[in-house]
Amino acid sequence: MRRRDRNGPRVLVVGGGFAGLSALNVLANANVQVTLVDRNIYSTFQPLLYQVATAGLTSSDVAYPLWSVTRKTRALFRKGELTALDLDKRVARLADGAELPYDYLIIATGVSANFYGVTGAKEHSLSLYTRRDAIALRNRLLREFERRAAGETGPGLDITMVGGGATGVETAGTIAEVRNIALPASFPDVDRSKIRVRLIEMAPALLTPYKERERDYARQQLVDRGVDVFLNTTIKEIGPDTVTLADGSTHRSDLTVWTAGIEAPAAEWNAALPRAHAGRIDVGPDLRVTGQERVFAVGDVSVTGDKPLPQLAQPAIQQGRHAGRQIRRLLAGQPTEPFSYHDKGIMATIGRRSAVVELPSGIKLRGTLAWLAWLALHMIYLLGGRNRVVTLVNLSWRYLTWSRGGGLIVGDDVPDQD
Ligand SMILES: Cc1cc2nc3c(=O)[nH]c(=O)nc-3n(C[C@H](O)[C@H](O)[C@H](O)COP(=O)(O)OP(=O)(O)OC[C@H]3O[C@@H](n4cnc5c(N)ncnc54)[C@H](O)[C@@H]3O)c2cc1C
Repeated sequence: MRRRDRNGPRVLVVGGGFAGLSALNVLANANVQVTLVDRNIYSTFQPLLYQVATAGLTSSDVAYPLWSVTRKTRALFRKGELTALDLDKRVARLADGAELPYDYLIIATGVSANFYGVTGAKEHSLSLYTRRDAIALRNRLLREFERRAAGETGPGLDITMVGGGATGVETAGTIAEVRNIALPASFPDVDRSKIRVRLIEMAPALLTPYKERERDYARQQLVDRGVDVFLNTTIKEIGPDTVTLADGSTHRSDLTVWTAGIEAPAAEWNAALPRAHAGRIDVGPDLRVTGQERVFAVGDVSVTGDKPLPQLAQPAIQQGRHAGRQIRRLLAGQPTEPFSYHDKGIMATIGRRSAVVELPSGIKLRGTLAWLAWLALHMIYLLGGRNRVVTLVNLSWRYLTWSRGGGLIVGDDVPDQD
């Protein structure tokens, strides 16, 4: 392996998700010193968090150590939380007080839940963006089952998912399957007929980016699993054990999961950067932050004014790669190029042997074939051989044994990091 020129220009990448890591790959052979900063020592594979949240995977199955990536890409890894940016002096400050100077900066810090100002949503619902969120949801779900098994509460359990995008659909579908298939064997004293799973969506359909047939399929699949689907329904308020709708009606909800929207939260470090819809950083066609020559923003955290891309793995991967390439061009004295997104299609799962796939060629898949395609792609995109093997084993174990008491993984507690 060629040694990196320690005197080369310094590139700082903040955020070790899909976008940040693909930038690192492109910069691996450039004559630059790359440092990756992340608040965690691992990258989280968000698309499978719902499996952690429903006890099908362990949290380490979806976490990959960042030093493994920096070793392969000849970068340095620094664990830390970005807290401030001095754009004039080109210095990033971390929560522990460290100052990291840079010549080029790539911001790839992702997003978190957007509660849209709904009263009580932040306090009384759980969200699903980090490993910590997924473990908290799983522990809460299992505790609710346990309490009913021990007769500590009445038998009823109402679970509400707020938001009918991919995360809401897959979480609702899988919780319903846990209730239908795993519960009789794992918690035989719990009356599953008293456990209600509902999904509330303010739009007239679930999975709005999909074609009508796929949306209808997803809704029907949830209904078939016993999920109560409410469309055209807006949440006004969330209480400790209630949800109140815009029509004023209040419904019991022992466990409310917020899967309705995302934002790039305001922080001291992004206060001086131009921010657009949902707080995302406004970038120009080449993905440089508007008004900045040496700062790129990529992935979920960024948005181009005229054409917002979906907040998915592919745009993040392609944008990270593009930013890395533009830095190489700038260092070679070449002008930057505009980013162009290559649409590879979209897919979402509803539950076991149930998914929808739409490819740009017009091909659409539903059912088992779509589910197998979804599963295969997720295995490919998971970082790390160990992660792929254990995920495949754990998911196979889940789906083969959960009617016999297997397939519910317990054990690890809430980690002290996201
Ligand atoms: C539950 C869920 C399911 C999803 N399912 C799918 C799916 O099936 N298919 C799909 O294509 N997409 C899916 N997505 C979306 C996809 O995961 C995101 O679009 C993608 O992760 C965005 O990549 P990113 O690199 O921009 O951000 P992220 O992957 O979120 O990475 C951001 C990184 O920045 C770090 N960070 C944040 N702030 C700081 C800071 N201040 N200092 C230091 N580090 C910081 C974080 O620790 C994190 O590692 C899903 C998302 C969620 C939440």
